[in-house]
Amino acid sequence: MNRQRELTDLLNRLGYEYYVLDNPSVEDKEYDRLYDELKALERESGEVYFDSPTRRVGGEPIKAFARHEHVERLYSLDKAVTDDELSAFFTRVSKVCPSPVYTVEYKFDGLTVCLTYDRGKFVRATTRGNGTVGEDVTAQALTIKSFPMTISYQGLLEVRGEAIIRLSVLEEYNKRAAEPLKNARNAAAGAIRNLDPAVTAKRKPEIYFYDVNYMSEPVVHSQTEAMDFLRKEGFKVYDFLRVCVSPEEVKNAVDEIEIERKHIDVLTDGAVIKLNDFAYRDAMGFTDKFPRFALAFKFEAEEKVTTVKDVVWQVGRTGKLTPLGILEPVDLGGATVKKATLNNFGDIQKKDVKIGSKVLIRRSNEVIPEILGTVEHAEGASVVEKPTVCPYCGAPVLENGANLFCPNEDCKPRVVAALAHFASKDAMDIEGFSEMTAGQCYEVLGLRTFSDLYALDDAALSRLDGFKEKKIKNLLSAIQKSKQIPLDRLIFALGVGGIGKVASKDLVEAFPSLEALCSATEEELLSLENIGEITAKNIVSYFADERTGRSFPAFSRSA
Ligand SMILES: [Zn+2]
Repeated sequence: MNRQRELTDLLNRLGYEYYVLDNPSVEDKEYDRLYDELKALERESGEVYFDSPTRRVGGEPIKAFARHEHVERLYSLDKAVTDDELSAFFTRVSKVCPSPVYTVEYKFDGLTVCLTYDRGKFVRATTRGNGTVGEDVTAQALTIKSFPMTISYQGLLEVRGEAIIRLSVLEEYNKRAAEPLKNARNAAAGAIRNLDPAVTAKRKPEIYFYDVNYMSEPVVHSQTEAMDFLRKEGFKVYDFLRVCVSPEEVKNAVDEIEIERKHIDVLTDGAVIKLNDFAYRDAMGFTDKFPRFALAFKFEAEEKVTTVKDVVWQVGRTGKLTPLGILEPVDLGGATVKKATLNNFGDIQKKDVKIGSKVLIRRSNEVIPEILGTVEHAEGASVVEKPTVCPYCGAPVLENGANLFCPNEDCKPRVVAALAHFASKDAMDIEGFSEMTAGQCYEVLGLRTFSDLYALDDAALSRLDGFKEKKIKNLLSAIQKSKQIPLDRLIFALGVGGIGKVASKDLVEAFPSLEALCSATEEELLSLENIGEITAKNIVSYFADERTGRSFPAFSRSA
């Protein structure tokens, strides 16, 4: 066998171990080395095999999603939320099926995708859409490595799975994102339904497969066989499937999921119950909307109604104004909630939120609860005005799309947030320089830039409340120590839009000094794998800004 074929097969096997089995047998470095060797061979031969892993990095952004008609309609499931509704389902089944066997699995909360294979090869990926027609998301799906390019089954096949973003991955992503994503479901849907496959790749979605939707020559006859088939063909399958022979066993399995789901790394909103035997499924048939042989049992969402007392505007380090709803305190999933997020002014209008409105709030497994919508307006509820000036510094705000920005770079919350990010653990790691300290330094000492931070001394710090000898000494030494931090951490600390920890490392590899990075052109930056167009523009305009030059700490310039 030629080396290129051999490497393609080997890398596919290693990718399968890594992405599907979560059980890699070689170190990342070794994988990267083999990958580079394959890339070189492909350049040399001018040929890229159909199943080459180098095809799975995402292509160019697309203009629009093509529509695609599914071979077989993708039904959504009928829902039950009470035990009575569940019992009614068992009754309906028992009228048609003498001794039904059920399967129970997790219902993941992401975006449903459908993959088509023909003659053993991956053809396309589509969203469910309205069930009959979906959107072609092949370019986006290719960046996800939870499924094979080739399979042994040779007929026409459509399989179905849920694209998700792990909660831990979302948390990591949000730590370094200029625009944090609010919940895992939106994050997954936004990753797949994004015209730029590079964005899909960056959010690291995965797909768990759970259904064989169509098979031209059926070789599976039950849900358990379908899951075995998927697993055997190399699809990622979540390792939980209960086979139940009585309603009691089904209820136990549902309870098990309701408890366990709080501990797993994937957002779930229920359990899916299906008749295992496909012959029984045929006997049960469909309503005009749903299959009669399956049911989604949805757990009670953590949602409450409360009153909006006020809407305040927060200014972040990019200057973006974000509205925050101040709520009548309410207990939600064991915690007292007093605030909830809204995205921007457009979101307030869309959800018709007024001061005095009763709103529905929800907390999923994520950070701050969100306001889902307005339930009713109290008498005298007042409209939330769109701010024309920054609530902190009074500068006239700028509008950019749906968002409002304070353009004043000296605006206190902007400076304080930027300084706090600069000093944070993952950035310059200046222990003792909290957001509160940053605020004091801003007010009392007129601290504005990163460079000012390195000019702090004994005399200055002793003017701050609560700063005694020891605290001053510790902070000054932490500031000194931060000068030794590697360049990539400094670049991350600067807080340029789109530059997270990973991108900072990539940048330093390509531009080993700050001077080199300062003079990098947009084209040079775009040639890096993890840098997209907007980020490249951000970098160039950041370093072109003369203010930035003043803001740099002096030590960061190499001799
Ligand atoms: Zn301002």
